Amino acid sequence: MDNASYLYRHELQSRYRWLRFAPDIEREFMGFLRETQSVNFVACAWIGLALWLGVVGWDVLRYVQHIEGTANEARYLQIIIPARLVNLLALGALLINLPRLRQSVWMGTAGLATIAVYCVCTFVCAYVYNRLNISDGMAASILILMTVLFPCGVTLRQALPVSAVLLGAYWFAAWKMLPLAHWMDFRETASLLMVCMAMMAFGSYLRERGAREQFLLRRLLDWEAAHDPLTGLANRRSFQRHFDVCLAQAQRDGKTLMLAILDLDHFKLYNDHYGHKAGDRALQQVALVLGHYAARPMDLAIRLGGEEFGLLSYADEAPALTRRMQHLLAQLQGLHILHEYSPTASCLTASIGIAQAEPATTTDSLFLQADAQLYRAKEAGRNRVCGPDVSGAAEGTKTAEKAAVAAA
Ligand code: GH3
Ligand code: MG
Ligand code: MG
Repeated sequence: MDNASYLYRHELQSRYRWLRFAPDIEREFMGFLRETQSVNFVACAWIGLALWLGVVGWDVLRYVQHIEGTANEARYLQIIIPARLVNLLALGALLINLPRLRQSVWMGTAGLATIAVYCVCTFVCAYVYNRLNISDGMAASILILMTVLFPCGVTLRQALPVSAVLLGAYWFAAWKMLPLAHWMDFRETASLLMVCMAMMAFGSYLRERGAREQFLLRRLLDWEAAHDPLTGLANRRSFQRHFDVCLAQAQRDGKTLMLAILDLDHFKLYNDHYGHKAGDRALQQVALVLGHYAARPMDLAIRLGGEEFGLLSYADEAPALTRRMQHLLAQLQGLHILHEYSPTASCLTASIGIAQAEPATTTDSLFLQADAQLYRAKEAGRNRVCGPDVSGAAEGTKTAEKAAVAAA
């Protein structure tokens, strides 16, 4: 089984109670979170602007009401304007950079930083209101403190410390600036707020666990749609997609594209005598060996179905691929998978046909060519490679035998 699918399954079983995957999967999950929550992030940024406009409108109204008061009051009210401007600058920077931020790893950090600026500015304004004896100055902060736990591309682990720091600053600011009578009221409201925050945090925890499960299930589903479950190799469906990409790339770069088809010899006899389970194990062993021959990024090892495998090799030449395939046959023999009932050899062997894609080649025509070469290899006695450059099928066998001796 392919490593990636095993890792997803393992994470799914572990239930991720502490909201953390293994580092590689965690990084992938953060990308998934950004992808799925970037719409929320954009919506929240615009809601933040709407909120800001509402609060500033409210400020203006209060300012107009107090403008006839003392010069001292007017001076206090003037502190609010720069505080709101700082707010606007932070929000403006966020909105201007939205298209870039929603694809970047900094999305969550930028969101949290903007909320933090929002909070601090609101504390400053609340301070001014309290000096002016306008009640409920801290009330607006409650709204903003809660937004830290919104699902906007950050995990609960990232949001919790920011939330704790802002909550601490909230208590500290109130303790420093509120007169005793207001402080008593504040404590009641703020305690209720803390309960609300704890409930929101629990909600975030459940939501994030759900998001993690969805992420793992989607990845597993994607994997299963593209791979063969027995061997973990790519299946025919992903072959088609990969082939189209490789052929277009090969045409653009003037490179060759080769296909090798490998068919196990007398595999029905193997199954009949050793059982289906042993047959499955043999298929897995063959797949493991073949997988090593597709180490380059554009190469692909495939299970075509039954006991047939394929290898798509990019920028390869027929003689070089033939040699590699002969080496593969030798390696297969080196596995010593006993097959006493095979008329070809005492262990499990395979035959390979190679074809080269031309610019006008389709998947079907490439398969037909490779199949024709495979047929030649079978006809010539099996356990050999046949391809466009191999004039005599027996030549392939000799090399395979030599390579087998060398491998042994
Ligand atoms: P040849 O040398 O001409 O290729 O003969 P062969 O017996 O290998 O070919 P044939 O097409 O007659 O038989 C293929 C066998 O592969 C039939 C089936 O039992 C076996 N097979 C196909 N898929 C699986 C599988 O997933 N697991 C197992 N264990 N066997 C499979
Ligand atoms: Mg077959
Ligand atoms: Mg066969």
